[in-house]
Amino acid sequence: MDVHLAPYVRENQERKGIIAVLHDVTEVRRLEKMRTDFVANVSHELKTPITSVKGFAETLLDGAMHDEAICREFLSIIYRESERLHRLISELLYLSRIEQHHIPLKLEQMNMTEAVLNIANTIQKEAKKKNLTLNLPEQTNDIWLEGEKDRIHQIVLNLLSNAIAYTPEGGKICVELWEENDQVKLSISDTGIGIPASELPRIFERFYRVEKARSRRSGGTGLGLAIVKHLTESHNGKIEVKSEEGKGTTFIVALPKTHETNDKTSLS
Ligand code: ADP
Repeated sequence: MDVHLAPYVRENQERKGIIAVLHDVTEVRRLEKMRTDFVANVSHELKTPITSVKGFAETLLDGAMHDEAICREFLSIIYRESERLHRLISELLYLSRIEQHHIPLKLEQMNMTEAVLNIANTIQKEAKKKNLTLNLPEQTNDIWLEGEKDRIHQIVLNLLSNAIAYTPEGGKICVELWEENDQVKLSISDTGIGIPASELPRIFERFYRVEKARSRRSGGTGLGLAIVKHLTESHNGKIEVKSEEGKGTTFIVALPKTHETNDKTSLS
């Protein structure tokens, strides 16, 4: 609360009292804190890979280059860290682009079943590497919705990639798609490491990760779910998550099948 005090003086200079103006700045402070936290987080996330790249490059230049095995090892670390940096910057730019509220959605009728199966196909290789079983919707059960293709693809891709990243070898991932009233629902569940109940409310925040080290190892930036939430809400949809530590996680996305025509410009 900001408080401003001023004396209340009559025309004849007689003091009659004090005027107090109370200004509730809770929201302003909250937004300011969010902004400074965000800048601090971005700086930290950028600094970590850059420090690593610089350190390994310096060591190579200082002589480690003459040992071929060390040279290879250091160069692969430099490559991996540069990749992470690239992904981080691309995701930050993407998030900032989709947050620009004046950009209308490019809505079109899309076959959601086909989209899910295509995306699953592109990451099948990752699932195979970990010997994961992928249960997918029936190809013959076409489910359509009105949405912006790229954004809907990104939602499915981020959730599926997380399911693969956070499920140990030999686990199972199940993708279901169904219609309910005027909504299309997508559920992605895994038999992975799960998320502790105390962390669940924060996982959609930018850069929030249950275990930073594990997320880093799997190439995570901590922005994937913030992007998913934003994209879902830009379609007037909702996302919910249920999880049990050590057992697995389920994300359910509910998207409206259609949008009112006059909604189209206000969405996003
Ligand atoms: P990241 O790039 O770290 O995966 P996300 O924003 O996609 O970032 O996810 C945030 C955090 O939520 C992850 O770091 C992880 O701790 C947790 N998480 C997301 N999906 C799952 C899942 N399917 N199983 C377990 N934990 C998950």
